[in-house]
Amino acid sequence: MRIDVVTIFPELFEPFFESGLLGKSIKEGKIEVQAHDLRTFTRDKHRQVDDYPFGGGRGMILMIEPLYRAWETLKQDNTFTILMSAGGKLLTKTRAARFSRHDHLLIFCGRYEGVDQRFLDCVDAEVSIGKYVLFGGEIPAMALIESAARFIPEILDPEVTANETYSKGPQRDFPQFTRPREFGGISVPSVLLSGNHAKIDKWREENSERI
Ligand code: SAH
Repeated sequence: MRIDVVTIFPELFEPFFESGLLGKSIKEGKIEVQAHDLRTFTRDKHRQVDDYPFGGGRGMILMIEPLYRAWETLKQDNTFTILMSAGGKLLTKTRAARFSRHDHLLIFCGRYEGVDQRFLDCVDAEVSIGKYVLFGGEIPAMALIESAARFIPEILDPEVTANETYSKGPQRDFPQFTRPREFGGISVPSVLLSGNHAKIDKWREENSERI
């Protein structure tokens, strides 16, 4: 799988692409990712990417030409293009799994007041990470990339994604404990120390449903 991200702040993705399991997977070639500076797709001396909205009003709008040029340059035959939008379809575990099945995702991060509406013709899906508004689409794009990467079997054992929060509808993961066995007078449930795996599985299932 390959993911290209278009943003005016590609530097935000540098530590993200270098850290944790995603960073390791990139290094090992299990997933290919690249952040592109939208300004490299401008043609003017000032590398302008935004302009005032027609009709007046506050804020700036990302211009269609650099966005379109980036899309034209980076898309392949099998590309699925996503625009991060506060009002888009909510990112869910089901959608993340669906995105992970594409060979190539091309993700656009908005900034300021958003993007020129005409760019929507190039986009396959507008995706939101929640019902709130951020300054830009970079953090939403990172959330999408991580949630999709977890569904790539070479990166994470499918056994993990099949047994966690949201695996079965609204169900939560079961309560987890690690050392020490007792903390502040609260002990780890004794069944987890019993070594009886049938009992442990039953306890986990019941408690995951209870939560
Ligand atoms: N005027 C816009 C908000 C622009 S915020 C509106 O009312 O919807 C600037 C950019 O941040 C957006 O273009 C989008 O790319 C990104 N963004 C902000 N909040 C987001 C969210 N919850 N999910 C996904 N992207 C978001």
